[in-house]
Amino acid sequence: MSGKKVLTVVGGGASGLVGAVFAKRLLKEKGKVVILERMDRIGKKILATGNGRCNFTNINTSVNNFYGRNADFVEYALKKFNVYDTIDFFECLGIYPKEEENGKMYPYSGQASSVLDALRNEIERLGIEIITGFEVKCVKKTGSGFRITSFSGNTVVSDKVIIAAGGCASPNLGSNGTGFKILSDLGHSVTKLQPALVQLKTEKDMVKGLKGIKFDGKVSIVSGGRILGEEKGEVLFTDYGLSGPPIFQLSVICALHKNCSVILDFVPDLTEKEVYELLLKRKKNLSHLSMENYFVGFLNKRIGNVIAKKSGIEKLSFSVSGLNEEILRRMSKNIKAMTFNIIGKNGWNNAQVTAGGVETAEFDSKTMESNIVKGLYSSGEIFDIFGECGGFNLQWAWSSGALAGICAAKSMMQPAKSY
Ligand SMILES: Cc1cc2nc3c(=O)[nH]c(=O)nc-3n(C[C@H](O)[C@H](O)[C@H](O)COP(=O)(O)OP(=O)(O)OC[C@H]3O[C@@H](n4cnc5c(N)ncnc54)[C@H](O)[C@@H]3O)c2cc1C
Repeated sequence: MSGKKVLTVVGGGASGLVGAVFAKRLLKEKGKVVILERMDRIGKKILATGNGRCNFTNINTSVNNFYGRNADFVEYALKKFNVYDTIDFFECLGIYPKEEENGKMYPYSGQASSVLDALRNEIERLGIEIITGFEVKCVKKTGSGFRITSFSGNTVVSDKVIIAAGGCASPNLGSNGTGFKILSDLGHSVTKLQPALVQLKTEKDMVKGLKGIKFDGKVSIVSGGRILGEEKGEVLFTDYGLSGPPIFQLSVICALHKNCSVILDFVPDLTEKEVYELLLKRKKNLSHLSMENYFVGFLNKRIGNVIAKKSGIEKLSFSVSGLNEEILRRMSKNIKAMTFNIIGKNGWNNAQVTAGGVETAEFDSKTMESNIVKGLYSSGEIFDIFGECGGFNLQWAWSSGALAGICAAKSMMQPAKSY
């Protein structure tokens, strides 16, 4: 026995890895840091982030980008380990940052794997122990510390523990919700869990024939006649409904409101009047064609066909010369505002994050320590906190992870209230 104090991090994902690094940097030889990971390797989810490019933060991050019963919980951590600290931290590990649209930051290499490699190199340099294939079943408080038991009956004894086991989203990448059970067994409450940042399902006949089409447009979410949110960006039609960054973003609103519809604007840079005038001009220039070719060069051909049908044209063999003012007005309206009723959303397997989680009021936002069990810390998605699409969720994982790691390590060296 070395007699060194031990900090155990449950979960080798974004927040757990950063927490372990910051703890060990402080503890140095005075303490040992162990990461327990249920998968056969750490950081699997990081590899899938940002479509394999890892949108690791966002320059415009603020409290307003987060949701939860008490979203202000993020404020202290985001201030203590902010976006610039994050960029600095990763740059020191070799990740040269690249800013893209709307403040999204990526590694210059364009590879999510480089973010994981950088963290792994630092973990190795610091001598942090990683135990993979260790799925924690329960954490019990003992006299002076904790006893951590795996589903296969192995145990680890630790002075302090950080639970960074993520939520329920994308369980194939590691986080399967066991973290919630661990914390509720320790006396914590878990709010209602829902998949968030996920694709939306529409009535199938609305998207029939559009599968695979992408377009840059404006998306609005409406419920009870009120516009609840609007986003611009690339929308993708799928066989069940709609996907793409603006849909992911607005799926958050669908999680909070009933009977939502999506309104797609296929040409956000034109007004409805301009669209009407354009359609009129096209009628004059293209009167020798059938409707099948009327939209070619203006809209995606298949989108055009759907607009024509929705505007009352039964057969695409209909002659352009037969278009009257009423049909042209209907088509202009549908191009600017085509409505799709939302009948649901995809489930956990497709979700990027978890809405809901461990009750933040039961933790100290200045240390990430539990108010119920002293010496127990948490970080990341396990909390009832999630961010919008655009690098905010990873920023929360890094910020809360760093704060938990620092505070846990400090409390091992001397009793400290906050960082
Ligand atoms: C496909 C996809 C793309 C995304 N892209 C982005 C993006 O570009 N930018 C962004 O900001 N966010 C993105 N996110 C969200 C972001 O990845 C997460 O919010 C973030 O990883 C959460 O970090 P975490 O450490 O809290 O949890 P996780 O990253 O989920 O890590 C939790 C870890 O704990 C382990 N674990 C769970 N239970 C146990 C247990 N009982 N015992 C031991 N180990 C356990 C898991 O295996 C996992 O490794 C994306 C998510 C997905 C699914």
